[in-house]
Amino acid sequence: MSKPELQDAKIVKYVRETKDTHTMRLELSRPFHWEPGQFIMVQAEINGESVRRAYSVASSPTRPYLEITVRQTENPTMSKYLNERKEGDILRIKGPYGRFIMDPTKPVFCIAAGSGITPFRAMLQYCIDKKLDIPYKLLYSCRYGDNVIYEKELPNLIKQYPHASYELSITRDKMGLDYVREGRINQDYLADQIKGFEDGKFYLCGTPGFIKSMIEFLIANGIPRDAIKREQWG
Ligand SMILES: Cc1cc2nc3c(=O)[nH]c(=O)nc-3n(C[C@H](O)[C@H](O)[C@H](O)COP(=O)(O)OP(=O)(O)OC[C@H]3O[C@@H](n4cnc5c(N)ncnc54)[C@H](O)[C@@H]3O)c2cc1C
Repeated sequence: MSKPELQDAKIVKYVRETKDTHTMRLELSRPFHWEPGQFIMVQAEINGESVRRAYSVASSPTRPYLEITVRQTENPTMSKYLNERKEGDILRIKGPYGRFIMDPTKPVFCIAAGSGITPFRAMLQYCIDKKLDIPYKLLYSCRYGDNVIYEKELPNLIKQYPHASYELSITRDKMGLDYVREGRINQDYLADQIKGFEDGKFYLCGTPGFIKSMIEFLIANGIPRDAIKREQWG
């Protein structure tokens, strides 16, 4: 694979996902191939400083476009800048990067918290488009019902892949979402969920604290450490 180069990327579609999260579809001036799970770097001059941040590619390489989904954090820098962009604006990006890549030969078990859902959307689209025949399971944890990213889209994608299953856990207030499980993802819940995935690969994405807990629970449930891959944010 050739070395990533800084290039212009035009925002050709800009979609609001939740009150603080947007998906941007980018048209690359020099298109490149990426693997499901990889990320790009976005670079910008903000308040006189050059800022660089990583964003997972939220779309599969099987689609004719590259998308990122950005949640604005507290005391934000780049995430505020990106969430103030509009269609037609140009970003400076570089990529792809990362070794958090889906193995398409093994059952895929994904656990996401908050905005950590983005690489798993790409992986699920990839399973659908490639018509893979491996099981794919997604466990997604959010605090509130109104900050679930891809809330309508994920159940639709799951329906398009016959080997997929999905469960959403809300830890604070489900705010009217009636199909969700309430409570944190814990060791007992995982013990039940991992049945049938004992030979699979486990992909974790979220904050360091979340990832640490998930690794402990998986290992306590007999999953070997080398079957676990993680993408840690923050
Ligand atoms: C591989 C990877 C993929 C990622 N993919 C995504 C994605 O798909 N979507 C997404 O929304 N995010 C993603 N992120 C996170 C993203 O890179 C940014 O970290 C995020 O957008 C916040 O950046 P920011 O510039 O807005 O905030 P920052 O300026 O980086 O600040 C973030 C937080 O850290 C605190 N902080 C900053 N500096 C300090 C300091 N010196 N001391 C104490 N606290 C400090 C701030 O108060 C703030 O709350 C990813 C990260 C990685 C590593």
